[in-house]
Amino acid sequence: MRTDSTRISEVARNAAKKQIEEVYGKNYYENRYYKTKADSQDAHEGVRPTYVELTPDSIKSNLTNDQYKLYRLIYNRFIASQMANAVFDTMAVDIDAGEYNFKSNGQKLKFKGFMAVYVENEEEINQSLPELEVGEELKKEKLEPKQSFTEPPPRYTEASLVKTLEENGIGRPSTYSPTITTILERRYIEKEQKQLVPTELGRVVNNLLINSFEDIMNVDFTADIEKNFDDIAEGKEEWKEIIREFYKPFSVELEKAQKELEQVQLTEEVSDVPCDKCGRMMVVKYGRYGKFLACPGYPECKNTKPIIETIKEPCPKCGGKIQVRKSKKGRKFYICENNPNNGCDYISWNKPQKEKEAKTKKAKSKK
Ligand SMILES: [Zn+2]
Ligand SMILES: [Zn+2]
Repeated sequence: MRTDSTRISEVARNAAKKQIEEVYGKNYYENRYYKTKADSQDAHEGVRPTYVELTPDSIKSNLTNDQYKLYRLIYNRFIASQMANAVFDTMAVDIDAGEYNFKSNGQKLKFKGFMAVYVENEEEINQSLPELEVGEELKKEKLEPKQSFTEPPPRYTEASLVKTLEENGIGRPSTYSPTITTILERRYIEKEQKQLVPTELGRVVNNLLINSFEDIMNVDFTADIEKNFDDIAEGKEEWKEIIREFYKPFSVELEKAQKELEQVQLTEEVSDVPCDKCGRMMVVKYGRYGKFLACPGYPECKNTKPIIETIKEPCPKCGGKIQVRKSKKGRKFYICENNPNNGCDYISWNKPQKEKEAKTKKAKSKK
C-alpha cells in the first residue's frame, strides 16, 4: 500500500466539503490542492476514509481499540487536510529594564481552522501574553536567575530523519524505510530507545567517504540527482548524457580513492572472557545474528562463542546468575545458569525482581 500521495478524488473532496461545512461551519472548509514535487512516483490517491459521514466515534463500538485509533488518525488527518488554516494573533514584546532588555513572544488562537480536528502539539496553541500597551510600566514580581547551556541538537529518530530527508529533497517516500533499514543492517547506526546513534564503524565510513568523495557525499548532490532522474522519467533529459556527466569525474575520484584510501582498523571491544582453547581474551564481533565472541588469534585459533548477557539480580531459587536469552520468536526470557545442568529449574519471561514486585502487588489488591 502506498500512502504518500496527497491527491484525492473529486468525490472525496466534495464529501469532505459537505461534512466539514455541516459539522464545523462554512468558514472551516478550504478548497485545497496539494502540489507534489515529483509526480512520477507517488501513488494515485492518498489513504482516506471511504465514507466521511462515519466519524470515528460513531463507529467506535464496532472497532477494536487499535482499529479505532488507526481509523481516527486517518480520518482526522484527512478531514484536517481539507480545512482552512488556523489563525493566530502573535505578539512580540520588548521590555526595557534599566540597562537590560527582555523579550517575550506570545500567540493567541483566533480561529481554530483545521486545529479543530487535528493538533500535533497542544502546547503550540496557546502561549498567550496578557494584554499590554506600548509604554505600559510593568512590575517585577520575581527574578529567577537561571543559567542555561546550549544543548546539542537531539539525535534523529526514524520520524525526524524521514522529515529531514523530505525537507532536503533526498529520496522518495518509498525509499525512506529501506534507507534506514540498510544503515541499521550495516551497523552504521544503532537504535537506542527511539534514537538513531552512529556507531564507530558508521563514523569511520562516513569520514572516509566525505574525505574521498566530497562532490557526491553531500545533500545537494543527492537532491540534484533525484531531480535529474525525474527529468529523465519525464523525457526532458537524455539518461546517457546525465550518466556521462556524473561518471567521468566520479571514475577519477574512485580510482584515486582505491589507491589512496587508508586501511582502517577498528578498535575491537575486548571482553572479559578468555578463549578456552588458547587463553587469549576474546573480542566482540558482529555477525548476521548480532554480536558474538571470537578469539583474536584467528586464523590459528578459530574459537567463537555466543555472548551471554546476565543481569544483576540473582536467581531467586539458588542464587546463581540469571542469563538473558531470546526465544525463537525473539522474545526475551530469563533463565538460571544452573538450569538444567546443576539442578535448578528457574526460568521466567520476567526479570526475577520484577516478578516478585508483581506478586506482592497482586497479594495486596486481594485484601
Ligand atoms: Zn583462541
Ligand atoms: Zn537457579
